[in-house]
Amino acid sequence: MILDDFIYLDDKGIYCPYGDFYIDPKQPVPLAVISHAHADHAVSGNTEVYCTEPTAAFMQLRYGKMAAKVFNLVGWHQPFKIKDVQITFSSAGHMLGSAMILMEYQGSSYLYTGDFKLQPDATCEPIAWHKADVLITESTFADPAVLHPNPVEEIKKLNNIKINILLGAYGLGKSQRLITLINEHAPNKKILVHHKIMPLNAIYERMGYKLGAYQMYGRKLMKNQEEFVYIVPPFTFDSYIRATGVKRLFASGWKNLQVNQQDTLFISDHADWNDILEAVKQVQPQQLWTLHGDGKHLKNYYKNDIFVKILN
Ligand SMILES: [Zn+2]
Ligand SMILES: [Zn+2]
Repeated sequence: MILDDFIYLDDKGIYCPYGDFYIDPKQPVPLAVISHAHADHAVSGNTEVYCTEPTAAFMQLRYGKMAAKVFNLVGWHQPFKIKDVQITFSSAGHMLGSAMILMEYQGSSYLYTGDFKLQPDATCEPIAWHKADVLITESTFADPAVLHPNPVEEIKKLNNIKINILLGAYGLGKSQRLITLINEHAPNKKILVHHKIMPLNAIYERMGYKLGAYQMYGRKLMKNQEEFVYIVPPFTFDSYIRATGVKRLFASGWKNLQVNQQDTLFISDHADWNDILEAVKQVQPQQLWTLHGDGKHLKNYYKNDIFVKILN
């Protein structure tokens, strides 16, 4: 029997009363299961954390000693228990170490996707599905009007730009994906990386993910026009608003983060509408619970077929 209160949102985040733990809590808690290292999912100061090895490494880099008191590192497809809830991680394909969290309790199964994507990505493990009675999905882009374009076609746009490019991107996950995409599909470009992104790249490389050619940004380099692509985190990107002699682009699935209507680079690490429908096909849930975003289109779409509950 599906328990309607198996997980619910409270002021600290997503709570499972049957295991007395939080998933991706927004404030520090005694016991947290963390899907991936993006800051909106992984806060510092939890007492005990269950997560994958890359997630712990990224959190320790960002938070140092404050990351958590105890990290329990969990491998793929290796079930563990919190109280009577059995938990299994499988890859969410969103960024290195990103996990979907399967929870099994009293004969019912609940799959929390966290952020996920289906597009191929050489910088993380491919998505690995599990069937479940309840699919708890992100609905960041759960709108039939949102279909992410092919990232390879997007990145090839860079080949038509002959001046240096300032490329804004989130430092963790997106930047590394861009480095591999540019190396493969825009090989004439010379990639420069902001110093804040370098230690993240080092973790990728330590975990066996080779990103290809890039070098740390140096002020003198960009004075020349050599088809440089300088990848910078969002705050640095914003401070270059009046830069001359460079084309500014921001890599994101969000329309409102694009520089303008002409200068777009739609590369998303989230599921679009079709991906969420595909997730439902793969997981075959009886119920769909939605988080992060807007579940109303899904509720309409599945009307009588699947019960949709909007958690946020
Ligand atoms: Zn994320
Ligand atoms: Zn997120």
